[in-house]
Amino acid sequence: MVGTIFDIKHFAIHDGPGIRQTIFFKGCPLKCWWCHNPESQNPEPQQYFQTNRLDGQVFTKEKTVGYPISVPDLFQIIEKDRVFFEESAGGVTFSGGEPLMQFEFLEAIVQKCNSAGIHTAVDTSGFTSKKNIEKLSEMTRLFLYDVKIINSNEHKKYTGVPPGPIIENLLWLDKNNINVTLRFPVIPSITDTGENMSALKTLLSQLKSIHNLDILPFHSMSKAKYKRFNQPYKMGNTPPVSDDALWAMKQDFEALGFEVKIGG
Ligand code: SF4
Repeated sequence: MVGTIFDIKHFAIHDGPGIRQTIFFKGCPLKCWWCHNPESQNPEPQQYFQTNRLDGQVFTKEKTVGYPISVPDLFQIIEKDRVFFEESAGGVTFSGGEPLMQFEFLEAIVQKCNSAGIHTAVDTSGFTSKKNIEKLSEMTRLFLYDVKIINSNEHKKYTGVPPGPIIENLLWLDKNNINVTLRFPVIPSITDTGENMSALKTLLSQLKSIHNLDILPFHSMSKAKYKRFNQPYKMGNTPPVSDDALWAMKQDFEALGFEVKIGG
């Protein structure tokens, strides 16, 4: 079984409990305007040119983002960090892109980690079939689950897909007491509008077993990547969200009974 990934981050501390290794899968069905990893969206490996300047000279090199890897080869890399997982109650997080887009590969590597006693988390947009969510919930220990925009037209406009399956899957996970940490990207004038915040709070107040939420503030550091991959950057000169606004939002969510972290 072979999958396509584009990066592996060692010693990650914001993608689940403890010290983690985060594996970034290539391919995502969404096209969020603010995506911090635009190179993750295309499921295939992509060529690009990297330009470096040295002593007034410009050097350009062709590079590829994304590569195929087998389950045993990936597991070998994961296992090398096992001591850090054990010391910190950490593990491995499958992210992307959307890891559920390569469902069979994801399933195979999660099962391999389970047999070796390594904790797994899956970072997902939730835009997948109910069957996939149900199957994965029997295997993985934690979902990091995005909630973005509740209004259907707005969600379609800013991500390219409707929110229906995402919300349905979330309600199913909640009903079945599956371990979920929600992740809310705060995107100025898109996800933090009064209308969206109010609709989001209504959804959150319906949840019975999910009580953790990470607030992920927008940043524009990925702007250069859009240029590199010839993708339009639609966020213009959107400024970062102020600390005051983030703290106010944190308090709002805490008032609904959530344990809230800023930054994941
Ligand atoms: S779901 Fe995540 S990876 Fe996919 S486009 Fe949106 S921000 Fe990017």
